[in-house]
Amino acid sequence: TPGAPHTILGQPDSLFVLFFTEMWERFSYYGMRALLVLYLISETSKGGWGWSREDATNLYGWYTMLVYFTPILGGYIADRILGTRRSVVLGGFVIAAGHIALFFDTQTTFFVGLGLVIIGTGLFKPNISAIVGQLYDKDNEGARDGGYTLFYMGVNAGAFFGISLCGYIGEKISWHFGFGLAAVFMILGALQFWLSQGIFGKIGGPPDKNAPLVDPTEKLDDTPAHVVRDRLIAICVFSFFTIFFWFAFEQAGGSMTIFAADYTDRTLVGTSGTVFKIVNSLMTLIPVGILSWLLIQLMRGGGKRYLSANLLLVAALAGIWGLSLWMLGREFAMEQSEIPATWFGVLNSFFLVILAPMFSKMWERHWNPSGPVKFGVGLVLLGLGFAALSYGATGIPQGAKTAQISMMFLTVAYLLHTMGELCLSPVGLSYISKLAPARLLGLMFGVWFVNSAIANKIAGSTGAYIDRISETYSMSIFFLIFTIIPIAAGILLMLLSPWMKKLMHGVH
Ligand code: GLN
Repeated sequence: TPGAPHTILGQPDSLFVLFFTEMWERFSYYGMRALLVLYLISETSKGGWGWSREDATNLYGWYTMLVYFTPILGGYIADRILGTRRSVVLGGFVIAAGHIALFFDTQTTFFVGLGLVIIGTGLFKPNISAIVGQLYDKDNEGARDGGYTLFYMGVNAGAFFGISLCGYIGEKISWHFGFGLAAVFMILGALQFWLSQGIFGKIGGPPDKNAPLVDPTEKLDDTPAHVVRDRLIAICVFSFFTIFFWFAFEQAGGSMTIFAADYTDRTLVGTSGTVFKIVNSLMTLIPVGILSWLLIQLMRGGGKRYLSANLLLVAALAGIWGLSLWMLGREFAMEQSEIPATWFGVLNSFFLVILAPMFSKMWERHWNPSGPVKFGVGLVLLGLGFAALSYGATGIPQGAKTAQISMMFLTVAYLLHTMGELCLSPVGLSYISKLAPARLLGLMFGVWFVNSAIANKIAGSTGAYIDRISETYSMSIFFLIFTIIPIAAGILLMLLSPWMKKLMHGVH
């Protein structure tokens, strides 16, 4: 090829197309998800469906399970028929159609919408994660981990703005405008990806039609069959351990919404209100600033290669700027303010966007243990987050209907959970891309997400019974269980590290 590939911040510029595409998709996913339970349980007079918390959480559990289950099908379809890129385009537009359906106010369109998001995510999520890895060849391995960390920042930038903006608009203006906002940004994201495809060249194209169906004894990628088999086992072990992580992680989110629901009843006035408003504005302005900076880097570093897509990007980010400022202005103008129930959900993605570059530096320069050790540390940190919650909940009597944990403990728990997530989730994506043979790449990302599906379903089921659980057990003991389980799983995985290293055959 004439000249070296375009790079920005040491990464191929095509990574930023993936960054923003995934950002808008996660914007729509997390934005809508933040509203789902609140919408279903809110009274019909307030535009909701008046469901019980138990029913709503159950539907939420099914939904979040299916969204992470279909990637195994979508990954396979990409490997066999469509290729990763066309799957992402198709998936993106199907998701957008789903969010458009959710905008309308009928039962039928609601369920059709959920179904479309589930199908679209199956095509989109594993394959966009796979394309990230396809950008790096063997001589460029060093950048891969950093690339996945940046990509994961995109995931969480999307989650941050999705939860805050869709959450705010949905809760305070109208549920359907909240859902509609998710649709608008998903459409922009899918268009932006579609228009900038030229930047990928041959990467992510359709697979070789004549390639035989997968045969485990067959040589893939010129790698001996036993090495391929061992590495596939390693992928399954990594993925399996994520069940413990995502189960507890999602459970924390669920229980915290309950505490947060209580905070919404506490009107913030006077000093605490002002302090909250200032913290809230800083929290919004920092990610907005980081994104704008990234966009400028992108424009300066060869972004002209996909100008039309850039125009969409600028428009979309201007939309984010505008909406964020409008949201903050509205909050400041109000005589008194309440913490919206969705506010706690954004803490995790906020911390992630801030901490990701530091973790990336740490792995590069200071401490870079093997994958199983990182995963183990991640699980232990998650457990420690629950220890903070357990301690914070000691004063809450068993069966208390309204429970309050100091915001301090909730914040510390989210901080530890996010640190754990950074040891496990972007690291895991990078390992899948290194361990999976090229012809099974989409499918293996599907395997990775299927374990999240299992975890989400279990979390949804325990979440549905949280009221009953809190009547029978004290919350402190409940959280203690979630302290012990991930820590035990983490230690087990660290002990398995020498075996895992053998299975990976030299992949670091
Ligand atoms: N926050 C991650 C994402 O949405 C979690 C994915 C998962 O595996 N559960 O990409």
